[in-house]
Amino acid sequence: MQIKLANSYGFCFGVKRAIEIAEKSSGAVTYGALIHNPLEIERLKNNYNVGYVDSLDKIDTNKIIIRTHGITKEDKEQLESQGKELIDATCPFVTKPQEIVKEMSENGYDVVIFGDINHPEVKGVKSYSKNQNRTFVVLNVDELKNIKLKEKIAVVAQTTRKISEFLKIVNFLVENHKEVRVFNTICNATFENQDAVKELSKEADIMIIIGGKNSSNTKQLYLISKENCNDSYLIENADELKPEWFKNKNLCGVSAGASTPEWLIQNIIKKIKQIKDYNE
Ligand code: SF4
Repeated sequence: MQIKLANSYGFCFGVKRAIEIAEKSSGAVTYGALIHNPLEIERLKNNYNVGYVDSLDKIDTNKIIIRTHGITKEDKEQLESQGKELIDATCPFVTKPQEIVKEMSENGYDVVIFGDINHPEVKGVKSYSKNQNRTFVVLNVDELKNIKLKEKIAVVAQTTRKISEFLKIVNFLVENHKEVRVFNTICNATFENQDAVKELSKEADIMIIIGGKNSSNTKQLYLISKENCNDSYLIENADELKPEWFKNKNLCGVSAGASTPEWLIQNIIKKIKQIKDYNE
Protein backbone atom coordinates (compact mmCIF):
# COMPACT_ATOMS: atom_id res chain seq x y z
CA MET A 1 0.00 0.00 0.00
CA GLN A 2 1.28 3.42 -0.98
CA ILE A 3 0.84 6.42 1.34
CA LYS A 4 0.40 9.82 -0.30
CA LEU A 5 0.05 13.25 1.30
CA ALA A 6 -2.25 15.82 -0.27
CA ASN A 7 -0.44 18.57 -2.21
CA SER A 8 -1.59 21.10 0.36
CA TYR A 9 -2.49 20.22 3.94
CA GLY A 10 -2.14 21.27 7.56
CA PHE A 11 -1.15 24.55 9.14
CA CYS A 12 -2.22 27.72 7.41
CA PHE A 13 -0.67 31.17 7.67
CA GLY A 14 -3.04 32.29 10.46
CA VAL A 15 -2.34 29.31 12.69
CA LYS A 16 1.46 29.43 12.17
CA ARG A 17 1.32 33.10 13.13
CA ALA A 18 -0.82 32.44 16.24
CA ILE A 19 1.48 29.69 17.46
CA GLU A 20 4.56 31.85 16.98
CA ILE A 21 2.86 34.59 19.02
CA ALA A 22 1.92 32.09 21.76
CA GLU A 23 5.43 30.62 21.92
CA LYS A 24 6.71 34.10 22.78
CA SER A 25 4.03 34.75 25.42
CA SER A 26 5.00 32.60 28.40
CA GLY A 27 2.61 33.03 31.33
CA ALA A 28 -0.30 34.11 29.14
CA VAL A 29 -3.62 32.33 28.71
CA THR A 30 -5.79 32.19 25.66
CA TYR A 31 -9.47 32.88 26.08
CA GLY A 32 -10.98 29.91 24.24
CA ALA A 33 -8.79 27.50 22.30
CA LEU A 34 -6.04 29.28 20.36
CA ILE A 35 -6.52 26.81 17.55
CA HIS A 36 -8.87 23.86 17.22
CA ASN A 37 -6.40 21.15 18.11
CA PRO A 38 -6.30 19.71 21.65
CA LEU A 39 -2.84 18.15 21.31
CA GLU A 40 -1.22 21.38 20.15
CA ILE A 41 -2.88 23.22 23.02
CA GLU A 42 -1.37 20.68 25.43
CA ARG A 43 2.09 21.17 23.83
CA LEU A 44 1.83 24.96 24.30
CA LYS A 45 0.93 24.41 27.95
CA ASN A 46 3.74 21.95 28.64
CA ASN A 47 6.53 23.58 26.63
CA TYR A 48 5.68 27.28 26.70
CA ASN A 49 3.53 27.77 29.82
CA VAL A 50 0.64 29.10 27.77
CA GLY A 51 -2.68 28.04 29.23
CA TYR A 52 -6.22 28.26 28.09
CA VAL A 53 -9.50 29.11 29.79
CA ASP A 54 -13.01 28.79 28.43
CA SER A 55 -14.68 31.54 30.42
CA LEU A 56 -13.84 35.14 31.26
CA ASP A 57 -14.48 34.49 34.98
CA LYS A 58 -11.67 31.93 35.11
CA ILE A 59 -8.93 34.29 33.87
CA ASP A 60 -6.45 34.76 36.72
CA THR A 61 -3.54 36.25 34.80
CA ASN A 62 -2.93 39.64 33.24
CA LYS A 63 -1.79 38.51 29.78
CA ILE A 64 -4.50 37.29 27.44
CA ILE A 65 -3.93 35.97 23.92
CA ILE A 66 -6.85 36.50 21.58
CA ARG A 67 -7.28 33.24 19.68
CA THR A 68 -6.92 32.80 15.89
CA HIS A 69 -10.65 32.96 15.25
CA GLY A 70 -11.19 36.07 17.34
CA ILE A 71 -13.49 36.93 20.24
CA THR A 72 -16.60 39.06 20.49
CA LYS A 73 -16.37 42.82 20.65
CA GLU A 74 -18.06 42.74 24.07
CA ASP A 75 -15.55 40.27 25.51
CA LYS A 76 -12.68 42.34 24.15
CA GLU A 77 -14.09 45.50 25.70
CA GLN A 78 -14.62 43.72 29.04
CA LEU A 79 -11.00 42.52 29.10
CA GLU A 80 -9.75 45.99 28.16
CA SER A 81 -11.82 47.58 30.92
CA GLN A 82 -10.20 45.18 33.42
CA GLY A 83 -6.80 46.50 32.30
CA LYS A 84 -5.66 43.16 30.82
CA GLU A 85 -2.74 43.07 28.39
CA LEU A 86 -4.26 41.78 25.14
CA ILE A 87 -2.00 39.94 22.71
CA ASP A 88 -3.93 39.76 19.45
CA ALA A 89 -3.43 36.51 17.53
CA THR A 90 -6.64 36.94 15.53
CA CYS A 91 -5.94 35.86 11.96
CA PRO A 92 -6.07 38.87 9.57
CA PHE A 93 -8.52 36.88 7.42
CA VAL A 94 -10.90 36.90 10.39
CA THR A 95 -10.36 40.55 11.25
CA LYS A 96 -11.43 41.39 7.67
CA PRO A 97 -15.07 40.16 7.94
CA GLN A 98 -15.29 41.78 11.40
CA GLU A 99 -14.40 45.13 9.78
CA ILE A 100 -16.74 44.60 6.82
CA VAL A 101 -19.70 43.76 9.08
CA LYS A 102 -19.01 46.87 11.18
CA GLU A 103 -18.76 49.16 8.16
CA MET A 104 -21.70 47.77 6.18
CA SER A 105 -24.03 47.77 9.20
CA GLU A 106 -23.03 51.38 9.94
CA ASN A 107 -23.96 52.22 6.34
CA GLY A 108 -27.48 50.83 6.72
CA TYR A 109 -27.04 47.46 5.04
CA ASP A 110 -28.71 44.30 6.27
CA VAL A 111 -25.87 41.86 6.90
CA VAL A 112 -25.95 38.16 6.04
CA ILE A 113 -23.22 35.97 7.49
CA PHE A 114 -22.95 32.54 5.90
CA GLY A 115 -21.73 30.25 8.67
CA ASP A 116 -22.42 28.39 11.89
CA ILE A 117 -23.98 30.62 14.52
CA ASN A 118 -22.32 28.60 17.30
CA HIS A 119 -18.79 28.93 15.91
CA PRO A 120 -16.60 31.38 17.88
CA GLU A 121 -15.43 33.08 14.69
CA VAL A 122 -19.01 33.77 13.57
CA LYS A 123 -20.05 34.96 17.03
CA GLY A 124 -17.09 37.34 16.94
CA VAL A 125 -17.83 38.61 13.43
CA LYS A 126 -21.52 39.14 14.21
CA SER A 127 -20.71 41.06 17.38
CA TYR A 128 -19.12 43.84 15.29
CA SER A 129 -22.44 44.71 13.65
CA LYS A 130 -23.89 48.04 14.72
CA ASN A 131 -27.37 46.66 14.14
CA GLN A 132 -27.70 43.19 15.67
CA ASN A 133 -31.41 42.99 14.75
CA ARG A 134 -30.56 43.32 11.06
CA THR A 135 -27.63 40.87 11.04
CA PHE A 136 -28.49 37.29 10.14
CA VAL A 137 -26.40 34.13 10.33
CA VAL A 138 -27.54 31.40 7.94
CA LEU A 139 -26.25 28.02 6.88
CA ASN A 140 -28.29 27.57 3.72
CA VAL A 141 -30.78 29.12 1.32
CA ASP A 142 -33.77 27.60 3.12
CA GLU A 143 -32.90 29.56 6.24
CA LEU A 144 -32.58 32.73 4.14
CA LYS A 145 -36.04 32.25 2.65
CA ASN A 146 -37.55 32.73 6.12
CA ILE A 147 -35.97 36.17 6.57
CA LYS A 148 -37.45 39.38 5.21
CA LEU A 149 -34.42 41.35 4.11
CA LYS A 150 -34.18 45.00 3.09
CA GLU A 151 -33.06 45.93 -0.43
CA LYS A 152 -29.47 46.79 0.62
CA ILE A 153 -27.64 43.65 1.68
CA ALA A 154 -24.02 42.82 2.44
CA VAL A 155 -22.95 39.18 2.62
CA VAL A 156 -19.80 37.64 4.11
CA ALA A 157 -18.80 34.05 4.86
CA GLN A 158 -17.17 32.21 7.74
CA THR A 159 -13.56 31.74 6.56
CA THR A 160 -13.67 27.95 6.45
CA ARG A 161 -16.91 27.43 4.51
CA LYS A 162 -17.28 25.71 1.14
CA ILE A 163 -17.23 28.18 -1.75
CA SER A 164 -19.92 26.22 -3.66
CA GLU A 165 -22.34 26.63 -0.72
CA PHE A 166 -21.50 30.33 -0.41
CA LEU A 167 -22.32 30.80 -4.10
CA LYS A 168 -25.79 29.30 -3.57
CA ILE A 169 -26.46 31.95 -0.89
CA VAL A 170 -25.06 34.72 -3.11
CA ASN A 171 -27.10 33.59 -6.14
CA PHE A 172 -30.30 33.56 -4.13
CA LEU A 173 -29.65 37.05 -2.78
CA VAL A 174 -28.72 38.48 -6.18
CA GLU A 175 -31.82 36.97 -7.81
CA ASN A 176 -34.14 38.45 -5.18
CA HIS A 177 -32.62 41.80 -4.19
CA LYS A 178 -31.52 44.97 -5.97
CA GLU A 179 -28.30 45.80 -4.14
CA VAL A 180 -26.14 42.97 -2.87
CA ARG A 181 -22.54 43.62 -1.80
CA VAL A 182 -20.66 40.31 -1.85
CA PHE A 183 -17.46 39.91 0.16
CA ASN A 184 -15.72 36.62 -0.39
CA THR A 185 -14.15 36.16 3.03
CA ILE A 186 -13.43 32.44 2.63
CA CYS A 187 -9.66 32.18 3.00
CA ASN A 188 -7.18 30.77 0.45
CA ALA A 189 -5.75 28.22 2.87
CA THR A 190 -9.16 26.62 2.98
CA PHE A 191 -9.39 26.54 -0.83
CA GLU A 192 -5.95 25.04 -1.26
CA ASN A 193 -6.41 22.26 1.29
CA GLN A 194 -9.90 21.54 -0.05
CA ASP A 195 -8.79 21.34 -3.71
CA ALA A 196 -5.90 19.07 -2.80
CA VAL A 197 -8.07 16.68 -0.74
CA LYS A 198 -10.61 16.56 -3.56
CA GLU A 199 -7.96 15.47 -6.07
CA LEU A 200 -6.33 12.93 -3.80
CA SER A 201 -9.60 11.37 -2.64
CA LYS A 202 -10.49 10.63 -6.28
CA GLU A 203 -7.52 8.30 -6.66
CA ALA A 204 -7.13 6.92 -3.11
CA ASP A 205 -9.08 3.93 -1.82
CA ILE A 206 -8.72 5.01 1.79
CA MET A 207 -8.37 8.56 3.11
CA ILE A 208 -7.16 9.59 6.58
CA ILE A 209 -8.04 13.16 7.53
CA ILE A 210 -6.21 14.37 10.63
CA GLY A 211 -7.48 17.14 12.87
CA GLY A 212 -9.53 18.19 15.87
CA LYS A 213 -13.08 16.85 15.78
CA ASN A 214 -14.26 20.32 16.82
CA SER A 215 -12.40 21.92 13.88
CA SER A 216 -14.75 23.21 11.20
CA ASN A 217 -12.19 23.17 8.38
CA THR A 218 -11.07 19.63 9.23
CA LYS A 219 -14.70 18.47 9.06
CA GLN A 220 -15.06 20.14 5.65
CA LEU A 221 -12.00 18.26 4.38
CA TYR A 222 -13.50 15.04 5.66
CA LEU A 223 -16.85 15.69 3.93
CA ILE A 224 -15.17 16.51 0.60
CA SER A 225 -13.04 13.39 0.90
CA LYS A 226 -16.07 11.23 1.72
CA GLU A 227 -17.82 12.43 -1.46
CA ASN A 228 -15.12 10.71 -3.53
CA CYS A 229 -13.79 8.01 -1.25
CA ASN A 230 -16.23 6.10 0.91
CA ASP A 231 -13.47 4.82 3.21
CA SER A 232 -12.60 8.25 4.61
CA TYR A 233 -11.83 8.61 8.32
CA LEU A 234 -11.41 11.68 10.51
CA ILE A 235 -9.00 11.07 13.39
CA GLU A 236 -7.34 13.20 16.07
CA ASN A 237 -4.49 10.87 17.00
CA ALA A 238 -2.68 7.67 15.99
CA ASP A 239 -4.53 5.51 18.57
CA GLU A 240 -7.73 5.83 16.57
CA LEU A 241 -6.29 4.04 13.51
CA LYS A 242 -7.73 0.55 13.02
CA PRO A 243 -5.65 -2.05 11.12
CA GLU A 244 -8.74 -3.50 9.37
CA TRP A 245 -9.34 -0.17 7.59
CA PHE A 246 -6.19 -0.74 5.55
CA LYS A 247 -6.75 -4.36 4.46
CA ASN A 248 -6.65 -4.79 0.64
CA LYS A 249 -6.04 -1.10 0.05
CA ASN A 250 -3.58 0.15 -2.57
CA LEU A 251 -3.39 3.88 -1.98
CA CYS A 252 -3.86 5.63 1.35
CA GLY A 253 -4.32 9.40 1.03
CA VAL A 254 -3.53 11.66 3.98
CA SER A 255 -4.60 15.21 4.64
CA ALA A 256 -4.92 17.42 7.70
CA GLY A 257 -6.89 20.44 8.81
CA ALA A 258 -5.47 23.94 9.04
CA SER A 259 -4.81 23.61 12.77
CA THR A 260 -3.11 20.20 12.73
CA PRO A 261 0.59 20.34 13.65
CA GLU A 262 3.21 18.69 11.43
CA TRP A 263 4.61 16.56 14.28
CA LEU A 264 1.19 14.94 14.73
CA ILE A 265 0.81 14.26 11.00
CA GLN A 266 4.22 12.59 10.90
CA ASN A 267 3.36 10.43 13.97
CA ILE A 268 0.23 9.21 12.26
CA ILE A 269 1.99 8.47 8.97
CA LYS A 270 4.54 6.46 10.95
CA LYS A 271 1.75 4.44 12.56
CA ILE A 272 0.05 3.84 9.17
CA LYS A 273 3.38 2.53 7.84
CA GLN A 274 3.63 0.13 10.80
CA ILE A 275 0.08 -1.13 10.17
CA LYS A 276 0.85 -1.48 6.46
CA ASP A 277 3.98 -3.55 7.18
CA TYR A 278 2.03 -5.69 9.64
CA ASN A 279 -0.83 -6.28 7.18
CA GLU A 280 1.62 -7.22 4.42
S1 SF4 B 1 -7.90 28.87 8.05
FE1 SF4 B 1 -7.61 30.86 7.06
S2 SF4 B 1 -8.79 32.24 8.34
FE2 SF4 B 1 -8.47 30.43 9.57
S3 SF4 B 1 -6.60 30.88 10.68
FE3 SF4 B 1 -6.02 29.82 8.81
S4 SF4 B 1 -5.46 31.46 7.37
FE4 SF4 B 1 -6.68 32.35 9.03
